[in-house]
Amino acid sequence: MSFLEINNLRVVYPNGHEALKSVSLQAEAGEIVALVGSSGAGKSTLLRCVNGLQQPVSGTIILDGEAITAMDEQQLQKYRCCIGFIWQEYNLVDRLPVLTNVLTGRLGRMQGFPSLIGYFSPAQREIAVRNLERVNLLERALQRADSLSGGEKQRVSIARAVSQDPKIILADEPVASLDPELSWHVMSDLSRVAREDGVLTLICIHQIDLAREFADRVIGIARGVVTFDGSPSELDEAALDRIYKLNRSTVTPAAAPAGDESRRSSSKAPRKS
Ligand code: ADP
Repeated sequence: MSFLEINNLRVVYPNGHEALKSVSLQAEAGEIVALVGSSGAGKSTLLRCVNGLQQPVSGTIILDGEAITAMDEQQLQKYRCCIGFIWQEYNLVDRLPVLTNVLTGRLGRMQGFPSLIGYFSPAQREIAVRNLERVNLLERALQRADSLSGGEKQRVSIARAVSQDPKIILADEPVASLDPELSWHVMSDLSRVAREDGVLTLICIHQIDLAREFADRVIGIARGVVTFDGSPSELDEAALDRIYKLNRSTVTPAAAPAGDESRRSSSKAPRKS
């Protein structure tokens, strides 16, 4: 069994929109996976299912042997402490110092009174300091978060995510608000620390060049279906057409012979086979 197993995931929103049709994929610890596709393709919905915020109508998600799709709300809250989130808009607490923002990544790992009053032990502070150092922001540790640039804020949220000691990092358009140069640096930091820590990382991203450069694997989604799953070097024009250009009423699944439902749902990275 793979570290992450997603099988036949189908999501229908209350308004009847089928956002994911039958998504299946497997991923291993330490993989950096870019999720690409047009707006509305279903990428964020997939991330929301992995963090348990969106329940599928059918299908299963298993992470590190735990069936997320079978968890109740209390179990999900505990499970989310093991997920590092990185959002487009950073989600930092502006008025708090950078170091405190990174330390909040540890809150889910704390229990009882210390977590209520936000008391962080020296060991936790050491983790936060080390992670700020890894993204080259240690000298900003005591500054308010709102005094940082966009790129710096996103590097703080990377430090916060890895300070959680996460099983998986989910990044939803982490560089969509940044210029190309900052985007490159943020993606470089994110992929480096995730690789060093061996954390599976799923990144929704629109910039194909960055997906090619920093991901181990690219998964293309179109209209709720996986239409490409392969290494960045396999992401050629034909693959991009399958992901972006077909204005489909029906969508062709990833390199699947017509009618081959098993290929559609079993999309292990070809580079591994
Ligand atoms: P992406 O992240 O690829 O841009 P999303 O997963 O956000 O796509 O959305 C997939 C589809 O589901 C889109 O058509 C979007 O409009 C629709 N959608 C997303 N959230 C909701 C919702 N809460 N209710 C109804 N439709 C939704």
